[in-house]
Amino acid sequence: MAEGKLKEYRKKRSFEKTPEPKGGRAAKGKKPIFVIQKHDARSLHYDFRLEAGGVLKSWAVPKGPSTDPQEKRLAVATEDHPLDYAGFEGVIPEGEYGAGTVIVWDKGTYRSLKEKDGKIVPVQDSVRDGHVMVWLYGRKLEGGYSLIRTGKGEDARWLLVKMKDEQADARRDPVGTEPQSVLSGKTIKELAGGGGAEKD
Ligand code: MN
Repeated sequence: MAEGKLKEYRKKRSFEKTPEPKGGRAAKGKKPIFVIQKHDARSLHYDFRLEAGGVLKSWAVPKGPSTDPQEKRLAVATEDHPLDYAGFEGVIPEGEYGAGTVIVWDKGTYRSLKEKDGKIVPVQDSVRDGHVMVWLYGRKLEGGYSLIRTGKGEDARWLLVKMKDEQADARRDPVGTEPQSVLSGKTIKELAGGGGAEKD
């Protein structure tokens, strides 16, 4: 099932050149995971990924997530990634797709907050419907976040917004003040300098 969804992911990459996982060995836990990877590619962005339907549904968020409900952060949907990508940090070589350094900026589990007729709506359904609501249990981010699709077809864009709850904090700026990886403790610069790939 996940195999077909990973076609685009695999087509874009040469696995003899990039240290990124090819995917397939899905180490599936009980609770679905989320990961946010800071990616210093052509332009710096944060890849927000949610486990759903055997893959990681993915969005590139140029400014990264905010803890301020007033801040609507643009999120561009990208191709599904394999589950084992959630443990990837390393340097994607020059000339390869997404060339640049990746760190695991935040990681944890999540639960879907969307209910219909008293039942939790699976996240892949809310992605299809363009309105995702999740509660994150991360190291840096906690609480409710919503992803809302606006526009249609090629013009579709998403907005990542912190929901108003106890974890909302307009004064906090995790993207600015907490640049380290939750896996290695390294910043993008430190990992790039060290060279090579590291996985969990
Ligand atoms: Mn990326």
